[in-house]
Amino acid sequence: MTDYPAPTDAGTVYDELDVPRVVNGTGTRTRVGGTRIRPAAVAAMERAAGSFAMIEDLQARASRAIADATGAPAGYVVTGAAAGLTMATAACMAGGDPAAMDQLPAAEGLPDEVVMPLVHSNAYDRALRAAGAQIVPVGTNDRHLGAGASSLEPWEIRAAIGERTAAVVLVPRGDLPLEPVIEVARSEDIPVVIDAAGLLPPRRNLSRFVDLGADLVVFSGGKGIRGPQSTGMIAGRHDLIASIAAQHLDMDAMASTWDPPTTLLDSGAFDGVPRHGIGRGFKVGKEELAGFIRALEGFVDGDDNADYADWDARARRIGERLTDDGFAVDYPGGDRDAVVTTVAVTVDPDRTGVTARKLVSTLVQEDPRVVVGDRDIAAGRVAVDPRSLTDVEADYLVDRVRANCPGIDG
Ligand SMILES: *Cc1c(COP(=O)(O)O)cnc(C)c1O
Repeated sequence: MTDYPAPTDAGTVYDELDVPRVVNGTGTRTRVGGTRIRPAAVAAMERAAGSFAMIEDLQARASRAIADATGAPAGYVVTGAAAGLTMATAACMAGGDPAAMDQLPAAEGLPDEVVMPLVHSNAYDRALRAAGAQIVPVGTNDRHLGAGASSLEPWEIRAAIGERTAAVVLVPRGDLPLEPVIEVARSEDIPVVIDAAGLLPPRRNLSRFVDLGADLVVFSGGKGIRGPQSTGMIAGRHDLIASIAAQHLDMDAMASTWDPPTTLLDSGAFDGVPRHGIGRGFKVGKEELAGFIRALEGFVDGDDNADYADWDARARRIGERLTDDGFAVDYPGGDRDAVVTTVAVTVDPDRTGVTARKLVSTLVQEDPRVVVGDRDIAAGRVAVDPRSLTDVEADYLVDRVRANCPGIDG
């Protein structure tokens, strides 16, 4: 394992920039900096910075790597899964038509509806709307509320699909079976886009949604893959990936000399050069592309069980030390649905002398900041995700939790 600086070491770039460092007990959350990039990816980024390659050649190479990893015909690197959702939607709306591409996000005359199970709706719906689409929710939330028997029936999907439907979008989670939805969409000839941003590992998910019949599958590069934080990948159909490329690549090119790799994009299919598309503001640099390709290779070469065992051991090390200090601890996750073993720590103010809320806000004010999960704060619990902690950082985190509980001796 790479030697990372201990929380008490001075002299990191953040110290030099006078920005507080973070001991990250939240896993891969974007606002805490995402993941620790694989060392081979960091090295590739540094070397990529020193010389040049055409972005379209790098994207064509990435397409091969993504195809190999997922079993999809093609792939493309974007600036994160959120950008991937915008680009996937734009591709489903505009297809191969440069005039339609040029018009987005104005959607007049284009298929502009994205059909989505109500139970899959989430804050990243915004990324679909950013392409100019509107969301058509289907089904009910009854099951979630403990009332009804099902969230979605096939007839509801079929009834929601019409002339204006651009895509069906799914965000696999919970217990909604994907197969019936995909089957209806395919029978209506509507592309299926799957947001699988955070669903790696398990590594079998690389190919699972492609195998189920999805036309485009979107993954984060900066979560389980441990690539650059500002990357994501889209795996899927050649024609849709070509549309994404045409709407994302820089188009400052002369028609007479524009010659991108045909495996990515067929310039002969266009009567001239498309204008900069809706994705031009999400550009991916040569450093991110080189780093992402190496990170994906590293992820593919890795082993789920080794990752799970590593996280589980670190979670238990944290949990056992906190148990010794008198905290009630349990270990959610580490199962099929949530592969990471996490540590849920109950903070009993009568014993600790501090509420969970106060503890979290005190830890985050320290230097270095210690950031722990606060989603269960209302129930008096804090959570620690082991993935972005070294063992030294894990021990430091436990020490700081204890030091901020005046009710606990020494
Ligand atoms: C993390 C996440 C995203 C956003 O991914 P980025 O790579 O950070 O853009 C989108 N959808 C879901 C379900 C996610 O978990």
